[in-house]
Amino acid sequence: MRVLVVEDEVKMAALLRRGLGEHGFAVEVAGTGEDAVGMATATPYEAIVLDVMLPGIDGLEACRRMRVQGVWSPVLMLTARGALGDRVAGLDGGADDYLTKPFSFAELLARLRALARRGQAERTALVEVGDLRLDRPARQAWRGETEIELSAKELTLLELFMRNPGHVLTRTQLLEHAWEYDYEHRSNVIEVYVRYLRRKIDRPFGVKSLETVRGAGYRLRRDGGR
Ligand code: CA
Repeated sequence: MRVLVVEDEVKMAALLRRGLGEHGFAVEVAGTGEDAVGMATATPYEAIVLDVMLPGIDGLEACRRMRVQGVWSPVLMLTARGALGDRVAGLDGGADDYLTKPFSFAELLARLRALARRGQAERTALVEVGDLRLDRPARQAWRGETEIELSAKELTLLELFMRNPGHVLTRTQLLEHAWEYDYEHRSNVIEVYVRYLRRKIDRPFGVKSLETVRGAGYRLRRDGGR
């Protein structure tokens, strides 16, 4: 499994290279965001570990540039302790998950494996359900001809619904898919995001495509609500 580590601090980069290497990852290291974007567009890495603090363009900008260029390798962003703004910006800029420095190596491994399992193949195609359309690489969604502005998390959730039309998705499934570890069993984050989604994909169009299935979860109607 090929992983790109983007970190300018030589000691940290060496540590990650050795540690991940010992666990069977083939690790390549980039020292700048510009190099990382170049390498990521040339090689389909199974995962990218991207430090926010870099010389030149930072990790957030590097991630945005990768996504714009159609790089859909899962990105795990490394942020400074307490830098909530970085985490939000990272996720909105197309990162899949983040880890706050200092982190335990075991946690890094677990997150990387989870990200790699999710894979990138599932994220590349155009998805259609009724008149809902989603272009994941371009991060764009439409109902009919109307483009819908969605945040990165809303896109992630909508994609999961659209790849499973007519199926009930449980809160746990949605949490595991979109949030990995952080929110498990202790948050109404799914309810909140389903509400956001309905406000964007349903209400302005006078449809009800995202249904609540009591005691079970949520379901996107196969007809997309029309
Ligand atoms: Ca750094």
